[in-house]
Amino acid sequence: MILRLLVTIVIIYLLYRVIKGLLPSLMSKQKLSNPPSDIIEDLIEDPYCHAYVPKSNAYSETINGRKIFFCSRKCCEQYKNKLKNNDTGED
Ligand SMILES: [Zn+2]
Repeated sequence: MILRLLVTIVIIYLLYRVIKGLLPSLMSKQKLSNPPSDIIEDLIEDPYCHAYVPKSNAYSETINGRKIFFCSRKCCEQYKNKLKNNDTGED
């Protein structure tokens, strides 16, 4: 009888350990799926006006095969004009 009781206690203890072990991993999985909003977003530097803007708010355009981010479309146009002016046709 004592042995059966011990086995039951061990099983309950193991179940308790498994549940305790699973809970933190489930909670961390939830955290990963909804990242907190206070996480600092990737900032990119506008190559024209040198302002720093979050990547998600940035205006991006592929220039000469490179994806470049700007704070606004206006800066992108100005930057492209600047590139054109710098390019004296040596290419
Ligand atoms: Zn800008």
